[in-house]
Amino acid sequence: MPTLMLDRIVPQHIRNFEPYYPSKPDSVLMSLFGVERLHRLNNNENALGPPPAVRQVIDGFRPEMVPVYPNGDCFDLRDLLAAKFHKTQNRFLVGNGSCEVISSVIKAFCVKGDNIITADKTFAVYEWVAEFSGVEARLIPLKDFGFDPEAMLDAVDEKTKIIFVCNPNNPTGTYWDRDTMTNFLEAVDQRCIVVIDEAYCEYVDNKDYPDAMQLMEAFPNVVTFRTFSKMYALAALRIGYLCSSPDVVDMVRRTHIVYSVNTPAQQAAAAAITDDTDFILATRKMVKEARQLLCPFFDGLGIPYLSNQGNYMMAHVHLSDTLLYRMLMKRGVMVRTMTGFRFPNWIRISLVQAPVMQDFINAFREVVSTVQK
Ligand SMILES: *Cc1c(COP(=O)(O)O)cnc(C)c1O
Repeated sequence: MPTLMLDRIVPQHIRNFEPYYPSKPDSVLMSLFGVERLHRLNNNENALGPPPAVRQVIDGFRPEMVPVYPNGDCFDLRDLLAAKFHKTQNRFLVGNGSCEVISSVIKAFCVKGDNIITADKTFAVYEWVAEFSGVEARLIPLKDFGFDPEAMLDAVDEKTKIIFVCNPNNPTGTYWDRDTMTNFLEAVDQRCIVVIDEAYCEYVDNKDYPDAMQLMEAFPNVVTFRTFSKMYALAALRIGYLCSSPDVVDMVRRTHIVYSVNTPAQQAAAAAITDDTDFILATRKMVKEARQLLCPFFDGLGIPYLSNQGNYMMAHVHLSDTLLYRMLMKRGVMVRTMTGFRFPNWIRISLVQAPVMQDFINAFREVVSTVQK
């Protein structure tokens, strides 16, 4: 057999990149850990969803539509988004999850030698896409668990193309208020693109939370990312989008794969935003109740935690997070270990219905008592 010359073919930055392995399917995990049910609290999914209007779309999806390509640029959905946010269609670009949109933005603006700036402990996909694209990711340490605007500004140089701000931040739940965000954007002064990832904006009801959809009217370099995976509970369909000024979107569109968003996803997303008020309120109520169960529980055990915005919280456990993960899995509860995300021995927990939170509490209490024996 001839020898494949991977040394010649594979760029150095790909060789240096460590692949990420997602978790195994539930059925595999359940037999591995010997459990008959598994609560998935690892991915910030909305356990209530999807909204009722989406169920109708999914149930009514006709097999005759399967051989037909989807609309290539999500025409109808962009129409609806335009109406919802009082903007024109050409300011929206829809992707196969907002993860695809991250990739399109980096491709549109960065070449080898450029850099992007974000935090060291945030949604990892910004960093990953930059690195496997041969672009430097400057990771600025969090300050008090939040993005540090001064340090991020200090890191900007003539090669900086994009700054990613996750607002609120996954996993810490912290956010920049309107003044912090506005001051930051003024200091950046149009030198680079500022992505404001609002994957969890629908979970925030604080008055001082800035809406990037409004900020972009004063700052044409602002790009907001939104997703249907979190609040709208469409994670399996993979759909998210960006919104920015027409000139920015026109550039990003060039690097964006057309036809990447399937028809059920486009239709479900359209249904999800059409009548979402009650669904959002019900979800926020569920998340609030979950916090009201978990916070006093961790307090009682003397376990430090972060309970801020979003549908998740973090806890700093006093044992190895991977050991805790395995012990919780044997009790049918899956959490996110955070060592890989530079939070050694922290876990992140999705906030879902009270009975499931109670199952988590019982499993966690059991584990802690066995470990202490
Ligand atoms: C979950 C998440 C996303 C997005 O996901 P998609 O499912 O690809 O739309 C984007 N940003 C943050 C911060 C997230 O937590």
